[in-house]
Formats: sequence, structure tokens, C-alpha cells
Amino acid sequence: MKVLSVASEVFPLVKTGGLADVVAALPPALSGHGVETITILPAYPGLLPRLEKKAAVHGYESLFGGPASIVRGRAFSLDLMLLDAPHLFDRAGGPYAESTGPDWPDNWRRFAALGRVAADVARGVVKDWKPDLLHAHDWQAGMAVAYLRYDGAKCPSVMTVHNLAFQGQFPASIFRGLGLPDTAFSIDGVEYYGGVGFLKAGLQSASALTTVSPTYAQEIRTPGFGMGLEGLINARAADLHGIVNGIDIDIWYPGKDDHLVQTYGPQTIDKRKANKRAVEERFGLAEDDGPIFSLVSRLTWQKGIDMLAAALDGIVAAGARLAILGSGDAALESALHTAAARHPGRVGVVIGYDERLSHLIQGGADAILVPSRFEPCGLTQLYGLRYGCVPIVARTGGLADTVIDANEAALTAGVATGFQFASSDAGALEHAVRRAATIYEDRKTWLSLQTQGMKADVSWSRSAGLYAALYRSLINGG
Ligand code: ADP
Repeated sequence: MKVLSVASEVFPLVKTGGLADVVAALPPALSGHGVETITILPAYPGLLPRLEKKAAVHGYESLFGGPASIVRGRAFSLDLMLLDAPHLFDRAGGPYAESTGPDWPDNWRRFAALGRVAADVARGVVKDWKPDLLHAHDWQAGMAVAYLRYDGAKCPSVMTVHNLAFQGQFPASIFRGLGLPDTAFSIDGVEYYGGVGFLKAGLQSASALTTVSPTYAQEIRTPGFGMGLEGLINARAADLHGIVNGIDIDIWYPGKDDHLVQTYGPQTIDKRKANKRAVEERFGLAEDDGPIFSLVSRLTWQKGIDMLAAALDGIVAAGARLAILGSGDAALESALHTAAARHPGRVGVVIGYDERLSHLIQGGADAILVPSRFEPCGLTQLYGLRYGCVPIVARTGGLADTVIDANEAALTAGVATGFQFASSDAGALEHAVRRAATIYEDRKTWLSLQTQGMKADVSWSRSAGLYAALYRSLINGG
């Protein structure tokens, strides 16, 4: 079975969030199920030189305003096609926005081009490699599915939502530039609240829809989480599947992780102490034996960072120290800095994106906080489980599906792996931290939380099987 995966980021070539990790980890997991994946993404600056066994496999004289080509090759054990279109992608800045913040004004053209080219590959323009199915990830890939549909191509497709908050909405005036038939500008096409919606177009056009956890699949059918798309998603409920993300357990493996000061395993959890000392040092925390709670996150409203800032004094009063790594909204960054200044030695904040440090935190902190208001799946709690860094999570989306709360029943049965609290509630967050700080004092119970978490299967093996089964059923006409 051949699958073309369409995405705007893939780890480690380009990453702004969990999407990149998922897009990179799924193909190797699927190969065990007889699925051969090629991932197509834009050739952002610096990507082409990293490709091995490079070959141009198709060219365009003019693709949305300039010449372009598809370059096939391999990098980091992944089979890739890069869309080399310098007028769209060869520019300094981020994948979606200028370094100064604002989105690229031609994002509609950039990701319509990615979609157009992916649909062409699915129709067989590349000699020797025609996929049996196209798998589109998030709004940036949504148009691939729409083009397939309006081309009348037979190739089945899957549209995966990693986060419904990002929808790729553009004014109606761009429609003419998309090269679709006039009939596509309709409620069952790409039209969305009077404009054009790329994610909406994908959701409307794909053979099947998936999102990254069963709970989020239910939540997005409601107005509170559906963000304007709940009507469409409900209409397509029979085609909607919730498949929880896994993680790459080779990259996230505390027994062999170069980013740690000290590697360890479930039998040698004591060795985490050396990493804990390193976390204290890196975050300027006072050295003591109390728990360190941590956060590794984009600093945004979705992630509940304002609630963390609000609950911070109470958290420190509960005896916790906090190590925070993140970047994002300037107002939230400064709220955290202000809070840290109130608690020298108790709260340390590092602003920035630091993959290495994120590993050290998971390997050294005692607990990882994920206070999201909504969370399609979430990866940091899965890394936490794998590293014995006990997750404390809001009860929403994939967080609710992956962490077993340390309630009385779960503790008695010895199956608890972390803590859950009511989402969107700073008081509940503070209470959960207090609960965790109390249990931390009971070393045997805390150790049980850690070892149970480390035993949890957070790999891709089960979920890859579910994707493969879905692909197979769609290819077989189902
Ligand atoms: P989202 O994709 O919504 O940001 P996820 O939990 O699904 O949230 O994935 C976030 C990913 O980004 C994880 O791999 C996490 O470790 C990483 N990450 C987030 N912020 C940082 C940061 N400041 N430094 C390093 N890694 C980060």
C-alpha cells in the first residue's frame, strides 16, 4: 500500500509543534503494517541540501506565479518529496509567518500550491510512484483533498485534524486564484462563512476524517470545541475517527538519550537525581529535595498559560518549584517572568524553543504540567509518562485519554499514572498540584506512578495499526 502524506512540517527538518513529530513518526510505524509512505512538504530554506539521493521528478513552468519542481529524496530515514518553489518558500522567517510575527500575506497561495502539487502526485504525475491514498494533515494540506475531488480523481483520502483552532481562512477574493471550477465556491465545497476555508475544504472533500484522540473527536462535534465547524463535522460523524497519537520511542528513550546528564530506566529511577540537579542549575532553582513541576509548551491561551500564571503563587505555596520552558505570546511571557521574579529560586523561566532542554526537563523534573483549555492529543504528557515525569493534565481531549488519574480506585488498583483536573479552572490546577505535592511525600506511591507511566505503551504500534486498517478499508472501497 502506497500513501502520500501531505504536511507543512516534519521533524527534525522543520517543526513548530506536535504536528511535525507525528508526521515524522507515523511512516516508520506504518511500514510494519505494509504501508510505504512518502511525505511531501515545502522546500523551506536549507531543506534541499539535506536531502540524500536527490532527484527532480516533476517540473512546473508556472505554479502560482513561478517555476517549481518536485524533488524526491531521503532524509533522516524518511522518504520525502520537497516542493521546490522559491517564489513561495525560499525566504527567511518561519514556515507560516515572518520572523516579526505577521502571517505571510500569500499563505493561501503557498499552501494551495502544496495542495495542487500533492493532488498531482496522487493522480500519478510522478513516474514510478503513484499512491493508493492521500493523507492530508491540517489546514495547510486541506486543499490537496479538495483538488483531488474537483479533479475527479479516484484516489481515496484522509483528512487529519491536529488542531481545529487553525483553519486556514481567507477572503473570497482568493477563490479565483485557486483554479477550481466555479461550483467549488459553495457550502459543500471550499466556501466557508463567505470566504474560503482550507481545512473546511479538506473536511468536506476527504473520504474519511480523523483527529488525534477519541475524546477530541467527540468534543469537536460540540459548539464549545467545534470552532464553527461542528455542523460539518456532525454531518460527517460516520466518517470521523479518533486515533490517539503515539511518540517515537527511540528518540524519546530515557535509557539512551544524549540530551540527559544521566540515562536511566524503570529499575533505576533514582538516577534521575543527576538530571534534576541539572534542571535546578539551568533554571536557577534552589537545590532541595522537594518536587520540581515543569512546563514545556507554546505560551498561548489554548495551553492555559494565563491560568498557570494566576495559580503560580498558590503552587509555590504548596512547596513546589517550577521550571518553565516555552515561547509564544509576549504578554504571557512577561506574566511568567514577573511571577518568577516574585519567587527567586522557586520559579525558573526560560523563554525560547530548545529541543535539548525539553528532554532534560522530562528526564529531571518530577512532574509535567499540561493545563490546556483544549488539547487535541498533546505529546508532552506522553513524553512525561515515558520519562517518569508524572503528568498533571487538564481533563480534555487526548490528555483525558492518555493519563490515568491518581484517584482512590486507581491508586488501590496500582494503575494510576498521573493527575487530571477540570480544564479551564485555575483553582482546579492549583488543587491538582497540591494533590501531587502531597503524594510526592509518599515515596512508594510516587514511585508507583512513575513506573506505571513508564510501562504505558505510548508507542505508535497500536495507532499505526488503526491508521493502516482505515487506509485499507478506504482503498478497498469502504
Ligand atoms: P502543540 O502541537 O499544540 O504545540 P503538542 O503537545 O502536541 O502541542 O506538541 C508540542 C511539541 O513541541 C512537543 O514535542 C514539545 O516537547 C515541543 N515544544 C513545545 N514548546 C517547546 C519549547 N519551548 N522548547 C522545546 N520543545 C517545545
